[in-house]
Amino acid sequence: MTSILGLLGHPLGHSVSVPMHMASIFTLGIDYVYLSFDILPEDLSRTVAGFKKEGVQGFNVTIPYKESIMSYLDGIDEHAGKIGAVNTVHNDHGKLKGYNTDGIGYITSLREQTGFSPGGRHVLMIGAGGAARAVAFSLLEAGIEGLIIANRSVEMDMAERLANHIKLSFPDVNVQALPVERIPWIPARELDLIINTTPVGMKHTGQQEIKELSDLMQESRTLLREDTVISDVIYNPVETPLLKMAKLAGLKTHNGINMLVYQGAESFRIWTGIRPPVDVMRRAVLQALQENR
Ligand code: NAP
Repeated sequence: MTSILGLLGHPLGHSVSVPMHMASIFTLGIDYVYLSFDILPEDLSRTVAGFKKEGVQGFNVTIPYKESIMSYLDGIDEHAGKIGAVNTVHNDHGKLKGYNTDGIGYITSLREQTGFSPGGRHVLMIGAGGAARAVAFSLLEAGIEGLIIANRSVEMDMAERLANHIKLSFPDVNVQALPVERIPWIPARELDLIINTTPVGMKHTGQQEIKELSDLMQESRTLLREDTVISDVIYNPVETPLLKMAKLAGLKTHNGINMLVYQGAESFRIWTGIRPPVDVMRRAVLQALQENR
């Protein structure tokens, strides 16, 4: 019988996860299918119960259910528990267990694309939402020494809440929260990695920018060290305005495509026990993004 995998969220639109996972299923020649489940909030509970009963082998979870899904699961892996969000659920003989593979995807792709090694490094992260939480915990587990979280000042408490939450698990790491307006006051030469985890720069969101970040990029030749890595978790477009500016300034860049591919590869491994072909997955994502232009 065909094993079912899928993506649960709302609204889903043209998700690239479907072609990405179907490409590895076809390449591996295994009897699986990956489907898209666009589910309204009021139907979440019975959908998850139905998945469990019908033996759906595993599914990804996306906006807006990464946190609310946790109350329907039988168990949560330690890393996902610390992050407080689940993006992958495995149905292990009738027991649903939640994982978070976003951070693993982030670290694996960052290392592969830029050679960055997190041990002892100092990081500036813009944004304090779901992606930021996963990225931050994975960098901290990988050994960074300092983390500054900058968020829009109106929602300042989000960055502070995240910083306080992190300090519970990493009391020895220097974690600070500040509003984005304070970015120009940070000693830029001490930064090894700058990450955008906000949707600013995404396709269809207009050409807005985080002014403080673009100013920093414009002046990066003098303010930043030339080995500082600039990273953006956005995957559409592949090269965001921030990454374009960083490249022009001669800095190393990291985009969100490989994070997406590696988080998907890790989810696939959890569900099936098989390491999927990441090159095939990456090609499928790039093609899907081209087709959905
Ligand atoms: P989220 O939970 O809604 O958090 C968004 C964050 O961005 C919040 O800190 C928010 O700040 C900030 N923000 C939003 N609009 C802003 C603006 N105009 N100016 C400054 N800050 C702004 O979203 P998320 O789930 O973390 O997703 C964020 C991005 O990550 C999305 O583009 C998503 O596609 C991407 N992502 C990529 C991957 C991947 O695999 N590559 C995985 C997950 C997510 P406030 O507190 O002020 O609202």
